[in-house]
Amino acid sequence: MAARLRTTCSLCGDVEVPFSAARLLVSVDTGEMSNLLEFDCPGCGHTEHRWLDEFSTRLLLTAGIDVAAAMPALGRHDRSR
Ligand SMILES: [Zn+2]
Repeated sequence: MAARLRTTCSLCGDVEVPFSAARLLVSVDTGEMSNLLEFDCPGCGHTEHRWLDEFSTRLLLTAGIDVAAAMPALGRHDRSR
């Protein structure tokens, strides 16, 4: 599956992001599901965040996007590099 996601980068404008460069951050911070999309912009390499509505979130989940648990405070990165 080579699905791509149409979204916008704050620097580049409209971009198409391969699913492999995007993941959905599910925050259970306040007991409420928050649907935050994180993606690495293919244009500038910047990591962007976008809030999604429930409908978009479901679409992405159905399409098989990666899901990661968001930390209460963004800025804690994994140690994979
Ligand atoms: Zn960009």
